[in-house]
Amino acid sequence: MSSRKYDIAIIGAGPGGSSTAYFLSKYGFSVLLIDKTEFPRAKTCGDGLTPRALDVLADMGILGKIQQEGFRIDGIHLFAPRKKRLYMPIPQKGNLPNYLVTLPRLQLDQIIFEQAIEAGAIFQGNTHITQIKKIPQGVRITGKHKQHPLEIDARMAIIATGANLKLLRSSKIIQKAPTMILAARQYFENVNGLSNNVEAYFDGIPLPGYGWVFPISETVANVGVGYWPHGIARHWKPENATQVFKNFIKLETLREMLNDAKAMEPIRGFPIRMDFTTAPTFGEGALLVGEAAGLVNPLTGEGIDFALESGKLAAGHIQHTFERGDFSPEDFLAYDALLREHFQRLFIMLTRIRKLYINPLLISRFLESAQNIPDLQLMLANIILGHQDAADCISPKTIRQVLLGR
Ligand SMILES: Cc1cc2nc3c(=O)[nH]c(=O)nc-3n(C[C@H](O)[C@H](O)[C@H](O)COP(=O)(O)OP(=O)(O)OC[C@H]3O[C@@H](n4cnc5c(N)ncnc54)[C@H](O)[C@@H]3O)c2cc1C
Repeated sequence: MSSRKYDIAIIGAGPGGSSTAYFLSKYGFSVLLIDKTEFPRAKTCGDGLTPRALDVLADMGILGKIQQEGFRIDGIHLFAPRKKRLYMPIPQKGNLPNYLVTLPRLQLDQIIFEQAIEAGAIFQGNTHITQIKKIPQGVRITGKHKQHPLEIDARMAIIATGANLKLLRSSKIIQKAPTMILAARQYFENVNGLSNNVEAYFDGIPLPGYGWVFPISETVANVGVGYWPHGIARHWKPENATQVFKNFIKLETLREMLNDAKAMEPIRGFPIRMDFTTAPTFGEGALLVGEAAGLVNPLTGEGIDFALESGKLAAGHIQHTFERGDFSPEDFLAYDALLREHFQRLFIMLTRIRKLYINPLLISRFLESAQNIPDLQLMLANIILGHQDAADCISPKTIRQVLLGR
């Protein structure tokens, strides 16, 4: 049994947990970062980093390394039913980069993790946490390290366990499982026609949802699908994400791209949580960051950016908590208010749009209109990239432009 007491114990060393660990260690706290696996480890993902994600990675001092190891993306190709297409360059938004980067999570998460360790966080791998309980001096965390029982005390905990709900349930933070997006991806080498653009398809998959081709080099791509099983998908009754993936790569365009390609590993599926607008953001003695708080773009399934941003926000909040010595329930409510202030409006808007794009005719109409109207294109790009003020872009004028095509 461990007897050392830490200021903060962080459960989950993905982008959410490792960024929190980095910022807290920089602020001078003693931080224990825990994960059930050892690092490096892979995570099923599309491997796309938005400008928002790149901004936090720059703040952590690792953007250069990520640019070096990753693949630069300058634009997005959208493919709708009835052969409608739209190309959008990544727009410049304030000081954010005007490009994306793709980098397999095996490498990305290791770079973020190493930066947290470099800043001073202690890592304990192979450690599966099963419960967090409030005690008078803070929190007691229990679980198993390589099958041996383990107990750790800390003043506060961070839960950064991603889409895995077990710890949230056993710690009574979540009672009912939220509806999740179902997703699957596979890497292919020797893919035809890759460029410095990502491709998103609203064709050949259940809606709302999309299929993607994210190049991670000039010849290798991450190909995948994600769909919301409670929209029109209910009527399709696809067996599972793997089946949807297999149907998607039968599309003519995909067949051409993958004609000479070779799969590099089996198809891997994983769910995505995106219920932030109604999700709890804390439990007794513990703050939630990243996907554990449902912080994934409800339209696109991108969550690395919000995991990094919430990690930074949580660390800043904890710094004030310790300065004030206020560990009361009000302080946890203040963290919830902080996250809502940053993300609630955007997430409500993105959830509403997801409900709209179940109609293939509407998507085709929108892409057709956006082809000729630069303002609409810009609005669409900002929405897809989850830019903060995307919610302000939709006006009666834009709706009229979509309907009239001018
Ligand atoms: C197919 C797919 C494609 C995606 N594509 C993209 C994309 O292109 N871009 C993007 O930005 N996002 C994408 N996402 C979403 C993104 O993967 C997640 O939102 C992101 O990983 C969330 O980061 P996180 O740190 O919150 O959680 P995670 O990265 O999931 O990390 C959680 C960590 O917690 C550990 N853990 C869990 N439970 C315990 C426990 N009880 N004890 C100890 N450790 C535990 C896990 O081992 C893991 O290391 C995709 C998701 C999927 C499934």
